[in-house]
Amino acid sequence: MNNDDFRQWSQRAADWGADYRNNLRERPVRPLVEPGDIFRSIEASPPEDAEPMDRIFADFEEKIVPGMTHWQHPRFFAYFPANAAPVSVVAEYLVSAMAAQCMLWQTSPAATELETRTVDWMRQALGLPEGFSGVIQDSASSATLNAVLTMRERALDWQGNKKGLAGQGRLRIYSSDQVHTSIDRGIWVSGIGEDNLVRIPVAGRFRAMEAAALEAAIVADREAGMLPAGIIASVGGTSTGGTDDIAAVAEIARRHGLYLHVDAAWAGSAMICPEFRHFWAGAELADSIVFNPHKWLGAQFDCSMQFIRQPEDLVRTLAIKPEFLKTHGRDGIINYSEWSVPLGRRFRALKLWFLLRAHGLENLRTMIRNHVAWSEGLALRLAREPDFEIVSEPMLSLFSFRHKAAAGADADEHNLRLVNAINDDGRIYLTQTKVDGRVAIRFQVGQFDATAEDVDAAFTVITEIARAMA
Ligand code: PLP
Repeated sequence: MNNDDFRQWSQRAADWGADYRNNLRERPVRPLVEPGDIFRSIEASPPEDAEPMDRIFADFEEKIVPGMTHWQHPRFFAYFPANAAPVSVVAEYLVSAMAAQCMLWQTSPAATELETRTVDWMRQALGLPEGFSGVIQDSASSATLNAVLTMRERALDWQGNKKGLAGQGRLRIYSSDQVHTSIDRGIWVSGIGEDNLVRIPVAGRFRAMEAAALEAAIVADREAGMLPAGIIASVGGTSTGGTDDIAAVAEIARRHGLYLHVDAAWAGSAMICPEFRHFWAGAELADSIVFNPHKWLGAQFDCSMQFIRQPEDLVRTLAIKPEFLKTHGRDGIINYSEWSVPLGRRFRALKLWFLLRAHGLENLRTMIRNHVAWSEGLALRLAREPDFEIVSEPMLSLFSFRHKAAAGADADEHNLRLVNAINDDGRIYLTQTKVDGRVAIRFQVGQFDATAEDVDAAFTVITEIARAMA
């Protein structure tokens, strides 16, 4: 492809993108395909000769698009959102065109310095105090892994990377059972081992870790000769929005000299609204916090922000400097690859910078406030229906519900069949979870283009399909 063709096809792609967004409501949110359908439609062997772009593009439209789940669909109410505001897509296009590697300051000075600036913009937007540095990672999973590795190294007096874990004290990390599985993975990958992730019982509407139980577990482990290393707290857990009392947990972490990491991957975006900040009161006392602007805020995936109180600890944990990566004579610069496991890094700050400038915080706050209000409204409407029950009350814009099964029918099976029937219908998309061992259907409003009418449509679809099944 020469640069004239590049221009022509880029323009075609831009037109396609705008048409796609315009017509999303006409598509089923989740495609009606069976496993293997798309695989079988793709040639089994790679082409020996160049193919014309027309044919490649036509195949994209015919074979790929109908097999996609549409995460930008305004009636996407499943999982958590992965919003890509159009302006962030434009920025990503520019990033793709430059295709820079942003691992060191000198490999892309503007990318590094814009990252430092946008992280600080977000710190201010979320109401966090000065004193936090930060970095944009690919995912919350990576940020949490970094936090776990830092906990490990701090607790082992920086000897873990060097000597491994054999012969060292038994490290212990504490969390509730409401945290995301990325915490389990961080513990596995760090070598600490799942058996040393101590699950603290939860209580209350938001399933917060019981402070007394947390403290007792730490004390008992220490008395037994183990090495408590850190606590991972949740604000807005994936299942039902489980949220710890961060101030209480931070006080325990402080008393016992433990590292505190807060996972607010989804809910963090809502902290741009001052009235929601009570959900993470005490976050300013954490050692690190992760939140994903690529979820609710609108920065195209991937864009996961990790705030860190003492970045030197992270750098001490992860930095490695062979001669070819040294930046001689450049004092006081940041090489962000020393803040993450991968060396190569994308230019992630540009889309956030475009997004924040093009929308302004006030418009983003309005979007989030609308989502929370619409979700609460739908929960109230469903609660008034005699054949529905609310299983977990709204935490921001997430709640879960259940439809009552006919007498004698298995309620879990009934609700799984319901969620499948709703998704096969295609007008909306939902996912399920388990609450206290029983199936519940999650509902979150978070899509960038969602309207009150889309949430009304969800009520119609849910009640209509549930009653047709009953
Ligand atoms: N933490 C929470 C609360 C999440 O909901 C998720 C994903 O939905 C994650 C962590 C993992 O995020 P990522 O996909 O960025 O690793």
